[in-house]
Amino acid sequence: MRKKQHRATATKDHGASNATPPRRPEKPFHLVLLGAPGVGKGTQAQLICERLGTCHLSTGDLLRAAEGRLHDGRNPALEAALDSMHRGELVPDATVLDLVRERVRSLHCAGGFLLDGFPRTVAQAEALANLLHKEKIRLTAVLDYELPLAKVIARLGGRRICQACNAVFHVSARPSRVAGLCDHCGGSLHQRDDDRPEAIRTRMKVYEQSTRPLINYYAQRGVLITVSAAGGLEEIYQRGLVALNGLFPKRS
Ligand SMILES: [Zn+2]
Repeated sequence: MRKKQHRATATKDHGASNATPPRRPEKPFHLVLLGAPGVGKGTQAQLICERLGTCHLSTGDLLRAAEGRLHDGRNPALEAALDSMHRGELVPDATVLDLVRERVRSLHCAGGFLLDGFPRTVAQAEALANLLHKEKIRLTAVLDYELPLAKVIARLGGRRICQACNAVFHVSARPSRVAGLCDHCGGSLHQRDDDRPEAIRTRMKVYEQSTRPLINYYAQRGVLITVSAAGGLEEIYQRGLVALNGLFPKRS
């Protein structure tokens, strides 16, 4: 909860000042978002949904919602999937697809949809293609946010988390007023093991290897849009929007 609040504030601060008024697309977008940890995909997903009214379907949210319902009926497949999620491992294709299928109404959301965290494999992408075909929905684009490894390391490596309230700071981009101490509660800030350069390099390598086939899959189908994730939040957002608007022929 707290973490979300801090994030929302950060987004507002960046977005409100120099934002050009958002242009609503002619059609709702049906999007898949891809991007390695640290490129800011989550924030972009949030901006797109806030400003374009797109329904956000994230695997994490779907799993957490399912977890909330789990207390009565036992569902071994779902329990196994939740265990995988808690261990930070990949959730089986079939389970994820079941969860997306349960939310099939969201795929028809008037503002379009944005899938975040799914598909993660070519098998999942094929299953999604079948589902969309059945629902007579065309995937508009797959936005792939890319950032060079050195920049990812600079971004994630500077991250500091409050041990008490989980607020997120950054040594250069969003420093706390007093070094090492949380602005909100005075708790001490620390670096997660995950955010150390070696861990980041390993994670990026794993991501790269596991996602490459998926990126190729969408590139071959002509729906892949690579967006540079360099620069500020607003800059990246506008870059994505320009690419998306470019997909639709202009009306005169
Ligand atoms: Zn704190």
